[in-house]
This record gives sequence, C-alpha cells and structure tokens, in this order.
Amino acid sequence: MNRDCIPNAEADKYFFHFPDGNASIARLLVRKLIPQAIPGISPTGIVLAKVDYSKLDEPSYWTRIRLNSTVVKVKHVGKPDRAKEVEVTYFADKKLQTVRAANCILACWHVVIPYIAQELPQPQKDALASAQKVPLLYTNVLARNWTAFQKLAASTIYAPGMYHTAVNLDIPVSIGGYECTKTPDDPIVVHMMKAACEPGLPARDQHRMGRIQLYETTFETYERSIRDQLSRMLGPGGFDPARDILEITVNRWPHGYAYEYNSLFDKFWLEGTETPCQIARKPFGRLAIANADADAYAYTDCAIDQAYRAVHELKS
Ligand SMILES: Cc1cc2nc3c(=O)[nH]c(=O)nc-3n(C[C@H](O)[C@H](O)[C@H](O)COP(=O)(O)OP(=O)(O)OC[C@H]3O[C@@H](n4cnc5c(N)ncnc54)[C@H](O)[C@@H]3O)c2cc1C
Repeated sequence: MNRDCIPNAEADKYFFHFPDGNASIARLLVRKLIPQAIPGISPTGIVLAKVDYSKLDEPSYWTRIRLNSTVVKVKHVGKPDRAKEVEVTYFADKKLQTVRAANCILACWHVVIPYIAQELPQPQKDALASAQKVPLLYTNVLARNWTAFQKLAASTIYAPGMYHTAVNLDIPVSIGGYECTKTPDDPIVVHMMKAACEPGLPARDQHRMGRIQLYETTFETYERSIRDQLSRMLGPGGFDPARDILEITVNRWPHGYAYEYNSLFDKFWLEGTETPCQIARKPFGRLAIANADADAYAYTDCAIDQAYRAVHELKS
C-alpha cells in the first residue's frame, strides 16, 4: 500500500510495511518457488534471511530464475494459433541465448513489448505503446538522530513548493529480528520523495519531461537541494545539515509508478469504451501479458492481480 499520498483511514486499515519495502515481497515469492534458495518459512523471517544466489538457476529444480538476462525477442515456433512452443531470446554473459517454453508471460513495462514480441497485432502494439510510467525520485538521508523532528512534533512534512514534496521519518517497524530506531537520539533514515514533472503540460508529457530532468540533474544539485530543504524545514528544531547528515542516497526511478488514467487527459476514461490497457493485455497464442501497466494502476496489489490473470490465460 502506498503511504506517499494523503492519510486515508480506510487505506490505513490495510497498511503493511516491510523495512526494505517491496523487496521482501519479491524474496517471499522466490522462497516459495525455490525453498532451497532462502532459509525459513515464516513471513517475518524473510527480512534478515540471506539468499543463496547459486540455487536460483539449478538444473535439477522445477523453477529456475536467471538474473541479468534481458529478453530481446519472443516468438512462437510456428504459427501463433497452432504453435506448441515459444522461443525466448535473451542477452546474458555478453551473448544472445535462447530457451523454449510451452508458454511465456511478458511481465515488463508495456512500451517495450511491441519490440520484443513483434508478432502481436498492430492495434495491440499501439495500445501497449501508449502506456506511460511516472518518474520518481526517492532519496534516503541517514541522519545522526531525529531530535529535530521530535522538537517540531512532526514525523511527515508535505512541501508542495520545495524540491522534494514529501519528507518523512522511516516507518518504525521491528520485525523478524530487524529492530527499528527506538529513541530520538538514535540514527534514522529520512525519506524524501519527488514525482519529477513539468507543470502546465498534459500528464503524459509531464512524465516524459520529468524523466529527462532526473537524468540531467547532477548529484551536486540533488545534494544542495536536500541540505537546503532539510535546513529550512528542520533548522528551527536544531537540525544542522553539516553535522547531522551522515549519508545521502539518491534513487532515480525513471520508470516508477504505472500511469493511471485521468479524465482530464484520457478522454476514453469516462466513455466506458475498451481502454488501452484492456486491449494491451489480451493473450496472443501462447503469450500472456502482465505488469501493473496491464490495469493502469500503480501499486503492487494490481501487479499481483494482473500476474494471476495472465497465468490463468496460459494454454495447457
Ligand atoms: C520507488 C517506488 C516505490 C513504490 N512504493 C510502493 C508502495 O509503497 N506500495 C505499493 O503497493 N507499490 C509501490 N510501488 C509500485 C510497485 O513497485 C509496482 O506496482 C510493482 O513493482 C509493479 O510490479 P510489476 O510486476 O508490474 O513490474 P516490476 O516490479 O517493474 O517488474 C518488472 C520486471 O521485469 C523485468 N524486465 C523488464 N524488461 C525485461 C526484459 N526485456 N527482460 C527481462 N526482464 C525484464 C524488470 O527488471 C523487473 O524486474 C513503488 C514503485 C516505486 C518505483
């Protein structure tokens, strides 16, 4: 569940947060598929469990996961409506390699699918190509302590006019042996967030421009804005950036959230006609299509629902 939006009592009922965010969900899935790769069985134990990467691609296991393997082409072996296999070409170890499978689910960003699966019908390719992603800036600042937040009686600050529009203290979760910070004198991660954009343009263009901004901005500019902003926000609480900032990590997500339709810019949205994502996610031969783009909704629950649907569309 997303916490970057305005607090919402209904959403808060379902709120759950792993200390490392969605990475724990990915690791829980891997443990279910390949129990030998990650020790333990409890959901909370996953937080500190170490992955044995040598077990991910083991020939004797039912499931094999191949990391650092970018798929560049997916094609039916024979005519799509009658084929019994799909050939998947991927780039790994500095060369192209292929595997064959009974079925294939394309679960990546929709815009790249027409390049990978060139057999798809043109209307479906057009619908896939119309997807967009929202660029995000997620900055983590390791602070010496959080006494300034305590003095100002604030854990979250919204600042629409500043560089990072939301600033919040790391959510306090002690789980599976991981202990969160307990007293204001302890170090803490301060999370700063920005959805890079260009006000005044249509939403999709704003996201494109935001992506360029993320790419072009230097680390020096990010650092200067972080130090300036935290000083202005927390200075009255005694925060001194030169003394209290221990580390800064700037995570740029050029293709962050899946784009959500908006009646201001997406006319079809209120017309009740088939939406681009419904056209984009149609199965084709032995190919099925997942990803949060497949329902134009940004969050993990959508990605899981779309993966579930795609698996059930596969041919036996
Ligand atoms: C910074 C950030 C914070 C977020 N916070 C939250 C939150 O608090 N709560 C929430 O519910 N959601 C959150 N989300 C959204 C959530 O992460 C997504 O909804 C979810 O990850 C989407 O899953 P997916 O399977 O659709 O795509 P992804 O998770 O993007 O998975 C797609 C995978 O496909 C791989 N891939 C792409 N192309 C290829 C290729 N050609 N060959 C091989 N592999 C390929 C990618 O490497 C990736 O691993 C956040 C997203 C971001 C970016």
